[in-house]
Amino acid sequence: MGLRRAKRQKTDHLPEDQGTPGLAVELRGVRRQYGRGAGVVHALAGIDLALPRGTFTAVMGPSGSGKSTFLQCAAGLDRPSAGYVRLGGTEITGMHENELAELRRSRLGFVFQAFNLLPSLTVEENVLLPMRLAGQRPDRRRAAAVLARVGLADRARSRPDELSGGQQQRVTIARALVTAPDVIFADEPTGALDTGTAAEVLGLLRQAVDGLGATVVMVTHDPAAAIWADRVLFLADGVLAGSLDDSSAEHIAARMAALASRTGTTAGATA
Ligand code: ADP
Repeated sequence: MGLRRAKRQKTDHLPEDQGTPGLAVELRGVRRQYGRGAGVVHALAGIDLALPRGTFTAVMGPSGSGKSTFLQCAAGLDRPSAGYVRLGGTEITGMHENELAELRRSRLGFVFQAFNLLPSLTVEENVLLPMRLAGQRPDRRRAAAVLARVGLADRARSRPDELSGGQQQRVTIARALVTAPDVIFADEPTGALDTGTAAEVLGLLRQAVDGLGATVVMVTHDPAAAIWADRVLFLADGVLAGSLDDSSAEHIAARMAALASRTGTTAGATA
């Protein structure tokens, strides 16, 4: 690992440095600390992770376990203090801010708890925004196809405030899908939705994985959301603390409770 890191620092992200084929997300030795000296906080204390393309992963953990920091580092929104991150085979760790911004627009999709739709744009314009920002020609047929996929074929000309919360979150999924990204990062995507609507939105993320081969990484504190994933990864004190595959909500909740009692925090709490 030490040798590899030394090589990376020299070669940065040259074309030969393509990572392992078939992996959408790769983190190696990722650390993120805040502050220094006596007040240092190790938000991520060494994360090694490889997520294949076409998988749906949920990341859970007690409040303060490092979920947000993980998502920020994995999605190129924050820089690790050590280690490296590859997305779709491209190492992002040494990228300049403008390269990272371009990569986020063209190769990543984001679905957040707050929908972050622009109120003055139509649904179709919101969906096409990542393409416009990435300097690509807005492809209206593509927008129509992804809107149809999320059940909003007839709402292309609506404004976000004419839609329900669930419909707005469907628009953000269409927006996340429009560029056929390497990875979709979702942060508590159902946090603002009622249970039934939440299940519909999660079902759409599941369909994107099963039907389009998308890769989804979702941070959530909700076991009912996590069951839609293939695999649940648990974080505790900035390190990976186990995983569950194809698990039940009860099983996931029990694991969360055990982790929370170990780390002295509250299972369901978010930071
Ligand atoms: P989670 O999302 O699981 O609640 P976070 O990633 O937000 O966890 O935080 C992990 C740890 O890092 C916590 O101890 C938190 O207080 C600390 N932390 C997060 N962001 C900052 C920051 N900007 N400055 C200082 N400490 C931070």
